[in-house]
Amino acid sequence: MTNAPTPCPLPSAGAPHAATEAPNAAAAGSPAPADTSTAAPTSASTASPASAGSPAPSEASVQLTMLGTGNAAVTRCYNTCFALRFGARVLLVDGGGGNGILPRLEAADIALRDICDVFLTHTHTDHIFGLVWVLRMVAQAVNAGQQREPLHVYGHAEGLRALESICRLTLPGKVCRQFGAAILFRPLEDGEAFSAAGMQLRAFDIGSTKAKQFGFTLALPGGGTLACLGDEPFAERTRPFVEGADWLLCEAFCCYEDRERFHPYEKHHSTAQDAGRLAAGLGVKHLLLYHTEDADLPRRRERYSREASAFFPGPVLVPDDGESLWL
Ligand SMILES: [Zn+2]
Repeated sequence: MTNAPTPCPLPSAGAPHAATEAPNAAAAGSPAPADTSTAAPTSASTASPASAGSPAPSEASVQLTMLGTGNAAVTRCYNTCFALRFGARVLLVDGGGGNGILPRLEAADIALRDICDVFLTHTHTDHIFGLVWVLRMVAQAVNAGQQREPLHVYGHAEGLRALESICRLTLPGKVCRQFGAAILFRPLEDGEAFSAAGMQLRAFDIGSTKAKQFGFTLALPGGGTLACLGDEPFAERTRPFVEGADWLLCEAFCCYEDRERFHPYEKHHSTAQDAGRLAAGLGVKHLLLYHTEDADLPRRRERYSREASAFFPGPVLVPDDGESLWL
């Protein structure tokens, strides 16, 4: 089901340059990429996008665009995946569950040609299948004569083997012939440093008991760090990588007050309250929540922010699909 394009209109519908949108009006008037006003829970619920075409705060800034923010079963938004743009180059992190990645990239004004690196966290359907489409479209463009730098696909070996196998089972041979040529799989070890889209990152094994999974930290070119915990609750073994991060990206399956309805713990996921406690304990500066249920998207930002903010004193961001912010 997640392979089908989801019917919900993106928040940026009608605005072709969604990738340049800031998360709310406060960000629009501020050149500071980490302006805490961009994430204040009280203003977030009434956030409105900045005007299209706003310039990057500085050449060292990284633009984070949430292409999808939902969990595996969502129907009103896309599965969680995001892009990190540094200059003209883009790192795509996961692909969501299917072809819906393509309209979301288009709405975010992210050209496939600009995606030079991909990071796959793990093999679950809501993360891996969108990448099949990305690889397909990249290979087809190269086959049609497009000049572009090779696409590097990073992840743990198990995940990359699964992705390549799915591609070989479902895509034409002439597409798969670009594997090893225009598309290069780059398996990473736990703790290994690598560069992507001109940025320095380090992958780490989150110790998942479900499917082997990597998170990563990113050294922001302008200073500070971003830590992506992947798709599971924090594991103590990853503390050295993520403690004190400037930006913590953390899954929040639902609000704690809705735990009896969505059963986050049975599915090995966190609540917004858990994420708030975690962010406080890790001493991070900003908390971004994703991979949520989609029962009430219009109120999601307000509700999740409020719950996490009861435990975490810093800014809490709960972006919608298509929203961007500068780091
Ligand atoms: Zn997931």
